[in-house]
Amino acid sequence: VPTARIDKLLSSLGYGSRAEMARLARAGGVTLDGVEVDDVSRRIPVTPDLTARMRIDGEPLDPPHGLALMLHKPVGMTCSHKEDGPLVYDVLPDRWRRRDPAISTIGRLDKDTSGLLLMTDDGDLLHRVISPRKNVAKIYRATLARPLTGSEAALFASGELMLEGDDRPLKPAGLEVLSPTEARVSVTEGRYHMVRRMFAAVGNHVETLHRERLGGLALPDDLAPGDWRLLDDGEIAAIF
Ligand code: URA
Repeated sequence: VPTARIDKLLSSLGYGSRAEMARLARAGGVTLDGVEVDDVSRRIPVTPDLTARMRIDGEPLDPPHGLALMLHKPVGMTCSHKEDGPLVYDVLPDRWRRRDPAISTIGRLDKDTSGLLLMTDDGDLLHRVISPRKNVAKIYRATLARPLTGSEAALFASGELMLEGDDRPLKPAGLEVLSPTEARVSVTEGRYHMVRRMFAAVGNHVETLHRERLGGLALPDDLAPGDWRLLDDGEIAAIF
């Protein structure tokens, strides 16, 4: 179990500078197991149960490092730290922007795509999910401008479909017809605007795109657009 100085831990979680944490503790604002912490230079084991055991200004400590969460990304939010306009990071508490290591998205969804988006401060987890070798399936529901012709599933599955601008064909992908203008698509790669370009390559056009699932982890029905929650270990394991 990693250990950390209390002031450094709080500072890395975005609560403020180490000097501010010392001041906060002197004022009685930091407790561990109900006891006021007076020496913030003390090292403590950093375990997930600190959230229940430590209070900052009377509030439970934020989840320590190594967190993962799922967001039901609404249409119109951008997966970027830099751009203007609503960002997926805006849904998280302000203080979480100052966390070090930072929280980032695991892969990206286009501004116009909705659905399951994971975020984490755990670089290993991020790489495991996006690594092509892990073959994590990304499953989308697409609505289309034109009726499906019936030839799309074979083309997607062929391993020979070239997307405009790319220099190698798409790995085999799955397509399930849901209605004449709706399909469920399963891909293992993570190319730019991938599903939109797949349908463009077969003469169609994606009107709405929603990610339903990553591997065995589905977007829960009770998670409304714009809502998020932390993942537990079982949910993280379900991805792979
Ligand atoms: N494919 C796309 O075209 N857009 C996304 O956001 C995800 C997959």
